[in-house]
Amino acid sequence: MGKITGFMEFERQEEDHLDPATRVKNYKEFTITLTDGQAKVQGARCMDCGIPFCNTGCPVNNMIPDWNDLVYHNNYKAASDNLHSTNNFPEVTGRICPAPCEAACTLGINDDPVGIKSIERKIADAAWERGHVVPQPPLVKTGKKVAVIGSGPAGLAAAQQLARAGHDVTVFEKSDRIGGLLRYGIPDFKMEKGLIDRRVEQMQAEGVTFRTSVLIGKDFPTTVSNMARDTIFPEDLHNQFDAIVMAGGAEQPRDLPVPGRELKGVHFAMDFLPQQNRVNAGDKLKDQIKATGKHVVVIGGGDTGSDCVGTSNRHGAASVTQFELMPQPPEQENKPLVWPYWPTRLRTSSSHEEGCERDWAVATKRLEGKNGKVEKLVACHVEWKDGKMTEVPGSEFEMPADLVFLAMGFVSPVQQVLDAFGVQKDARGNAKAAVEGETAYQTSAPKVFVAGDMRRGQSLVVWAIREGRQCARAVDEFLMGSSVLPR
Ligand SMILES: Cc1cc2nc3c(=O)[nH]c(=O)nc-3n(C[C@H](O)[C@H](O)[C@H](O)COP(=O)(O)OP(=O)(O)OC[C@H]3O[C@@H](n4cnc5c(N)ncnc54)[C@H](O)[C@@H]3O)c2cc1C
Ligand code: SF4
Repeated sequence: MGKITGFMEFERQEEDHLDPATRVKNYKEFTITLTDGQAKVQGARCMDCGIPFCNTGCPVNNMIPDWNDLVYHNNYKAASDNLHSTNNFPEVTGRICPAPCEAACTLGINDDPVGIKSIERKIADAAWERGHVVPQPPLVKTGKKVAVIGSGPAGLAAAQQLARAGHDVTVFEKSDRIGGLLRYGIPDFKMEKGLIDRRVEQMQAEGVTFRTSVLIGKDFPTTVSNMARDTIFPEDLHNQFDAIVMAGGAEQPRDLPVPGRELKGVHFAMDFLPQQNRVNAGDKLKDQIKATGKHVVVIGGGDTGSDCVGTSNRHGAASVTQFELMPQPPEQENKPLVWPYWPTRLRTSSSHEEGCERDWAVATKRLEGKNGKVEKLVACHVEWKDGKMTEVPGSEFEMPADLVFLAMGFVSPVQQVLDAFGVQKDARGNAKAAVEGETAYQTSAPKVFVAGDMRRGQSLVVWAIREGRQCARAVDEFLMGSSVLPR
């Protein structure tokens, strides 16, 4: 514990941000990593409370009090080693994790919680700047070959762990660049993509082979972006590899079956967001969906919707409105009731701060337009009682809408991929696999494992990293009979 009285002396300090008017002019990150001095003070706020609930609140079980202390003592090398022992990509979670650890922080019961996420980012950024992140190739190779399908955080974490255990790992990705939703989906202003590139270099030096634009499976629907040039059938993969890890995410978006859905100008969020990632990466796109000068309506109140808000504002939209079907949550949670769990409360993202009208308990009734193009959204307010939704009489309203983005989440993985491998599914259409026991992360298909959103359904990056790591251990045990990889 850095400073015994730190939590009484120092206040929580958020990371500095560029102001909204400046940052919407480009797609660069606008959060400024803590200085050494700021991080020291924030680390000193950790009480070393005895039972670190933050450690179990964090899905990868980061050893938070330990690195708070190391940062306080300016020992960044040890802090980086500690952090990387539980988290393969802390520079990512330090930027885009919603930080359930902070909801579980003991200091948070009656004060602002420790700024855990900002300290994590500081340690990770310092580690790269100071040369503490180096490839860790295995000392001994096992001769076993593992295929990883999908290069999102689950696939990357699994691949890195398996390569470090000495296996020959090949990552197959249907897109043209590595990273999954970290690359195509999450906007650059939340996380710049050079972060992925330098990890890919590290992993290549550790022996991982990456093959992009390769689709594994067959009969893939065109509704999901598919840049693949080559296709490899599951049976060929089976013949070439000793184990297969499926980490293909949950890519099937939830649709809005209302009249007018077919009009031009109504898009899934994931038709819109990856295009901007591509343009930022230097690609030339024909027919990019542009919000410039348009009235934009985002349907869906979550993170993906918020990313559409931020991107539309950067395009220079005339107006941006976001609707959520559920009622508005309370501004402040009832702390004694919910701590140390993740509370439901009103969250205002940095994209909302940049300009957006928001409304809750709104159901879209239809979309109207002329010449096949959307112009108007007709909606109403709804009331929720006993889990049932009813229209509030007389609440129907309409508003101009030149672009409508559907950001209502993802239903499941693309079923054709699971079917191509013949894996059993759970009731929600995810690949079925337990996370504990002798068959942890194993699907019903021989030597086929699964991790991340493809197993647990739409989730978070930090959960994907956890699953990738745990799945790697399960694969290592399957191949070698035992494993020294961390759980
Ligand atoms: C717009 C958006 C914003 C988000 N923002 C956040 C955030 O701020 N914080 C957070 O924690 N989480 C966020 N999430 C959720 C998070 O990105 C996901 O939970 C996480 O990326 C899941 O990781 P994954 O590795 O399981 O799958 P993905 O990241 O979805 O990666 C799967 C990869 O597999 C590839 N693939 C699929 N099928 C095949 C196949 N048959 N052959 C070859 N390749 C295949 C796909 O192309 C993709 O690259 C966001 C999600 C979205 C959509
Ligand atoms: S990964 Fe997320 S939950 Fe874990 S310490 Fe970092 S911010 Fe907190």
